Amino acid sequence: MTDLPADRRPALVDALLPGLLEPVATQRADAGRTVKTAWRLVDGALVESVLMRYPDRVTMCVSSQAGCGMGCPFCATGHGGLTRNLSTAEIVEQVLAGARALRRGQVAGGPGRVSNVVFMGMGEPLANYRAVRDALHRLVDDPPHGLGLSARAVTVSTVGLVPRILDLAAEGLPVTLAVSLHAPDDELRNTLVPINTRWPVIEVLDAASQYADRSGRRFSVEYVLIRGVNDQAWRADALADLLVGRLAHVNLIPLNPTPGSAWTASRRADQVEFVRRLAGRGVPVTVRDTRGREIDGACGQLAAAGRAPQA
Ligand code: SF4
Repeated sequence: MTDLPADRRPALVDALLPGLLEPVATQRADAGRTVKTAWRLVDGALVESVLMRYPDRVTMCVSSQAGCGMGCPFCATGHGGLTRNLSTAEIVEQVLAGARALRRGQVAGGPGRVSNVVFMGMGEPLANYRAVRDALHRLVDDPPHGLGLSARAVTVSTVGLVPRILDLAAEGLPVTLAVSLHAPDDELRNTLVPINTRWPVIEVLDAASQYADRSGRRFSVEYVLIRGVNDQAWRADALADLLVGRLAHVNLIPLNPTPGSAWTASRRADQVEFVRRLAGRGVPVTVRDTRGREIDGACGQLAAAGRAPQA
């Protein structure tokens, strides 16, 4: 409303437009370098974001949905079901909130800036495709339309919604794609990632390979190691069979314990053997840092919509 005096506009905005995100709880870990925030959205839905500061980068893990409808049994977020999709603004605002906190020096380590964004918080990003696609543009487009982040520093994680992976490939945004695989065989993956009954392992990997070919960026395969469930040596070999020759990198994630779950992280020896077998076949593999574990801020643990936030 440029017909109003400029100095009166901010007060009008404050009075008429509700805030997008209201912080309701903040938890810190890793000597203040990991900060998890629970946000209340304008309609009362709850989501969480996690800021993680490393020596060489600051990563914001953002939510794309309140809750999640994918129903992966090892995941705290999945237990509460889907509340709703987030808007583009609600997604981008999580990044901006982290950027503001860093700029003001409110995160241990002094002032800084957000360098990386990962869509690995609550929700399946590609199930909220349009809002996520538009948020990606806001993140990577040059100012003043976007924040000017490097596309390669932005990662979108998916359980494998094949048509949407292909849509994202056609978008021409060279963000990194992360596929949550968790099993190389359909029989087990059908139980760990139920959407696998619709798009099986081979279709997901073929779509991810197409994405990698179009974007020129290797995709990552996320694999939560669960003791006695998916961490057998033969499954490492089966995973290698699937990935040899693809532009892919495996990220092994020791399972984060969730309350009430019988599943636990793999034995160290099994994890080492799993890595050895993949590396032995020439498949790039790393074991992910489990930052934020003590505040339930690590992968598969964001569950604000399903419980009262804890201060
Ligand atoms: S693992 Fe991801 S897709 Fe599966 S229920 Fe949890 S948030 Fe949803």
